[in-house]
Amino acid sequence: MNFHVLTLFPEMIMDTLKTSILGRAMEKGAIRAQAVNIRDYANNKHHSVDDYTYGGGAGMLMQAQPVYDCVQAVLDKINKERPSNGMASPRIIYVTPQGRIFDQKLAQELAGEEDLIFLCGHYEGIDERVLEEVATDQVSIGDYVLTGGELPALVMIDTIARLCPGVLGSEESAQTDSFQNGLLEYPQYSRPAVWHDRAVPEILLSGDHKKVDEWRLEQSIIRTRERRPDLYEKWLKERNEAGK
Ligand code: SAM
Repeated sequence: MNFHVLTLFPEMIMDTLKTSILGRAMEKGAIRAQAVNIRDYANNKHHSVDDYTYGGGAGMLMQAQPVYDCVQAVLDKINKERPSNGMASPRIIYVTPQGRIFDQKLAQELAGEEDLIFLCGHYEGIDERVLEEVATDQVSIGDYVLTGGELPALVMIDTIARLCPGVLGSEESAQTDSFQNGLLEYPQYSRPAVWHDRAVPEILLSGDHKKVDEWRLEQSIIRTRERRPDLYEKWLKERNEAGK
């Protein structure tokens, strides 16, 4: 998977991606990432990328030209690096509070792509016309507004990357994580077996893997029903439809 992030703050992206699990994944080539500075594509002598909004109002807006030229440069680079002659048409995701809400299902879908381009807005956002021309998806990380798209892009990249082959070791497997099977994950414990007079549930010390799996599923169901009744109802409906 190749992540391409179009931003006014490339160091914010790369400093984070170079850290911990994703940093190791990049070192061994399981994922690749580049952050491209939109400002480098501004065709004015001051390299300014924003201007006032038509119609008035507070705040500046990122202009269409540098964003468009930056996207084209990244597309050209992707096509040059492709082994085949076919033209790539990667998904171009504008991260915006006005988009569809990001979730694990969308992360799984995006993890199947070869290249993903993330477009990060700043100030009041980006001129609508260039979004209409280039963005294939508009995605939000939740109903709140951040100062820029860098953190939302990083949230999405982190979630997608850990689903890509070779990124997580078995000790960090994503298989049993919350949302993978539509439920929240069961409670987990490590040594010691008793801490502050609290004992680990007996079943987890039994060595009976079948019983442990049954207990964990039961705990997942209880936890999801208590904490996320919306998820629980959805899981129940899907299970009933599948006749399980
Ligand atoms: N004026 C915009 C609006 O009301 O929809 C908000 C602009 S916000 C201050 C600046 C940039 O941050 C956006 O262009 C977007 O890229 C990013 N951003 C802010 N909140 C976000 C969210 N919840 N999800 C994804 N991106 C977000």
